[in-house]
Amino acid sequence: MTAPGSKVPRMLLIGLDGADWRVMKPLMEKGQLPTLARLAAEGVRGDLLSFEPLASPLVWTSIATGKVPEKHGIKDFFATQSAIKAKRIWDIVRQQRPEAKIGLYKYLFTWPPERGLAFVVPGWTARSPETVPAHLRFIKEIEMAGLPSTNTALMHYLDVGLRGLIHGMRVSTLTRCALVALYQRLLKPSNVELHYRKQLLEALIAGDIYSRLMRKQRLDFSASIYAGLDGISHHYWKYYEPHLFRDVSPREKRRYGDVVARCYRAADRMVGRLMQSVGRETNVIVASDHGFRASKDCWMKRQLNVGLLLQRLGIDDRVYVSIILDKVHLRLRAGSRAERSELVEMLRGIEYRDSRESFLEVDLGSDDASIGIRPRQIVDQGDNPSIRMLGGEVRLQELLIEKAEISGTHDPTGILIMRGPAVNRGADIGVVSVLDLTPTMLVLMNLAVGRDMDGRVLSETIEPEFLRRHPIRYVDSYEESAHPGPEPAEIEERLVAESIVGERLRGLGYIE
Ligand SMILES: [Zn+2]
Repeated sequence: MTAPGSKVPRMLLIGLDGADWRVMKPLMEKGQLPTLARLAAEGVRGDLLSFEPLASPLVWTSIATGKVPEKHGIKDFFATQSAIKAKRIWDIVRQQRPEAKIGLYKYLFTWPPERGLAFVVPGWTARSPETVPAHLRFIKEIEMAGLPSTNTALMHYLDVGLRGLIHGMRVSTLTRCALVALYQRLLKPSNVELHYRKQLLEALIAGDIYSRLMRKQRLDFSASIYAGLDGISHHYWKYYEPHLFRDVSPREKRRYGDVVARCYRAADRMVGRLMQSVGRETNVIVASDHGFRASKDCWMKRQLNVGLLLQRLGIDDRVYVSIILDKVHLRLRAGSRAERSELVEMLRGIEYRDSRESFLEVDLGSDDASIGIRPRQIVDQGDNPSIRMLGGEVRLQELLIEKAEISGTHDPTGILIMRGPAVNRGADIGVVSVLDLTPTMLVLMNLAVGRDMDGRVLSETIEPEFLRRHPIRYVDSYEESAHPGPEPAEIEERLVAESIVGERLRGLGYIE
């Protein structure tokens, strides 16, 4: 613990999922990322090496625990917070300093939101729009807007918008949200037109609301993830590096050529607003879980047309929908067990007209409210097969639609920028590991490092005077027991994680 009276700098971890130096450097040189360039110039920068598989859930959890996935237990997107077997840095801070104020904004696997923290807005694998405190729920509702079965009534939008304004959303941001919502409803644009607009909005909303939350609360520790760069890089890389792809037309190049850069500029403005809230006494880390590069070949992903399915079944106003990879998660809004069993029966009854084979795999979540569905592997069902369900027949090609093209893929090297009162100035520290961040953040908060952590303290990034006053200390472990707990029950393994990511499809890059 800290000696009484000694001041421990605050800590802010800003995650930019998928950020890559090869995109950032030229933009910085052109002066287009002023905040990130300034942070790098005033602090240290490095290449943050990730590990295989380059999957965000594993890597972000390693970043927050300092431990390899074998120890923290997260294997894929379908896990929930309860599957995490290691303490994350905010758990340690909370345990060591019960009075510390902690806020989490869209960090992965923070659902269900933990009570007792200053605020938690869960990340995109959340199963419902719950937040702590509850009045922040509108942030998740905005994220959900446009998903099948969300409330599309105008009054609902007005209500969500009003709550946004009260809690710090700027009128200009709200106006843009409204324009995108209108654009989506009236013109029914393609995914390529819509996707980047939504990701740019996400950065604006975080810039408004997360920065205000931090300004009001004076947090001791905060962590966040902005997922926009990852989604954008998966979908728009071919326009960013059109020379590597054969099929980019001059029109597409003009129209989408700047989308990747635009998203980085939006992220930079967001970081700028966060910096204004926390002031210079905070140690700040900006990190990505991996970088990006062109995918060897583009591929198109087919996806269940959830909107049509729910409409035909007549249940589009009864469930929350969330999509992770090829799995769709339905969560009854105010459902009873009886209602769920009814719904499950309905879904299991959907079959190919001719072969009578089931169309969907149906999984039950262990929480009594959720159902996971995914189209079964199609084995030869003849030409143009039809699907039979309650409410009539639908052709397969209407129910499985081409959704998004993937042209960018993860690269092992991400970015690291650190700046703050306890951080060295002007150094390039070369290649370090995602596992090093938690041990380093602990030292920067004058907390002991767990010997069971897999990373090292990046002492080369820390100001020598700070290290002299706060020498690195160790504990064997912060875990309750040195022995790993019981393996989660099999049902837990199959537990479907839901997300309100919806049409973002941002996880697609992980299936390669
Ligand atoms: Zn990705």
